[in-house]
Amino acid sequence: MDTRWSLPGRSPSASAGPVSVTVTDMSRQRLCARPGCGAPATASLVFQYAVRKVWLDDLGEAQPYKIDLCSRHADRLCVPRGWTGDDRRAVAAAPVAAPVAS
Ligand SMILES: [Zn+2]
Repeated sequence: MDTRWSLPGRSPSASAGPVSVTVTDMSRQRLCARPGCGAPATASLVFQYAVRKVWLDDLGEAQPYKIDLCSRHADRLCVPRGWTGDDRRAVAAAPVAAPVAS
């Protein structure tokens, strides 16, 4: 008994076109990581359990260990008891004259 399959309309050159990959990461807007907050991130939070220390940095390159925060949440950041915090932002507490998107 012959049970060969017939493949309908198979075209070997159907997917021979160039594959275009769009890189949009560079200018992608990063948002505050706090739940319920969708404000643009302006700072990065880094913490290290080993030394119980928290750093606030200007928003730099996105890293898996960094937590993006908006300026409001960065300013309000509370360091856990027994931890020390270090605000290393260059623009800490400076008024930002940026247009506010409503
Ligand atoms: Zn926020």
